[in-house]
Amino acid sequence: MAEMKIEVTAYRCDRCGHKWIPRSNEKPTICPECKSPYWNKPRKNNKEKRK
Ligand SMILES: [Zn+2]
Repeated sequence: MAEMKIEVTAYRCDRCGHKWIPRSNEKPTICPECKSPYWNKPRKNNKEKRK
């Protein structure tokens, strides 16, 4: 058997850090772990300046 490298697309949730490989080619809408729909959205709402 020859060696072969299989590359898969994995996703990582920015919220809980969960990593998973989707079964379909479609981009997941929520994190399967924490069910957050913002798993791939970085926090940009932190515009409050630290005092
Ligand atoms: Zn998550």
